[in-house]
Amino acid sequence: MAKGEQLHKGHLEAVNLFGKSIAKRAAFRCEWCEGSDGLRLWEYRPDQEPSPENLALLCDACRTLSGSKSGDPHQLRSLRNALWSDVPAVAEGAAIVLSRCKEPWAREAIEESFIDEALKARLL
Ligand SMILES: [Zn+2]
Repeated sequence: MAKGEQLHKGHLEAVNLFGKSIAKRAAFRCEWCEGSDGLRLWEYRPDQEPSPENLALLCDACRTLSGSKSGDPHQLRSLRNALWSDVPAVAEGAAIVLSRCKEPWAREAIEESFIDEALKARLL
């Protein structure tokens, strides 16, 4: 196995170690929209060490949303509650997705949230 591959494998194993505790934290619901389809761990900052703060349990739709430039406003609205989470992967991850949508309610929701101030300033 090449060194890069080995590192990648180690990283995924480290992520999976948190699977159970995060599923419990999430109460087996998507931590962004509370949906329950295709729940899987999602890494907020894949370049960093896996940790509970850096991981969220997300449904299919939200994982797709995390990587796309825009989203269905109805789906995006279901992310608003996630902004109040004290888990950065949940609150900041959702804020970044919401910030891509230019609707005023999304801006306001981010403004009112308690996410990291530097990130907030960058998003607004
Ligand atoms: Zn979801």
